[in-house]
Amino acid sequence: MSVNINSRPGSARNNRTGSWRVDRRPKFLRQNCIACRLCLLVCPEGIITGKAKNSFETDYVYCKGCGLCAAVCPKKDIEMIPEDTETEG
Ligand code: SF4
Ligand code: SF4
Repeated sequence: MSVNINSRPGSARNNRTGSWRVDRRPKFLRQNCIACRLCLLVCPEGIITGKAKNSFETDYVYCKGCGLCAAVCPKKDIEMIPEDTETEG
């Protein structure tokens, strides 16, 4: 039996995986970011962008809400918030 699993990095670009989120999404607080890029590097969908401090953001169309970005942020500058909360980034 074969199983078709699309697991290539950045594959969300083809699948609009934002609909997979269950109840939480990341909010980039943009207060204490040191531009270490860890969030960008760990995101399994490759959808976090940013260069300067406090400039990082994600694309909610593709964000699965896995929480990895928030887990690795050394400055706790990404918070997982309830899906129905208003965010700007
Ligand atoms: S929660 Fe963070 S790491 Fe997970 S898909 Fe969304 S932006 Fe990427
Ligand atoms: S992991 Fe945190 S401190 Fe590092 S770039 Fe991302 S938001 Fe900024």
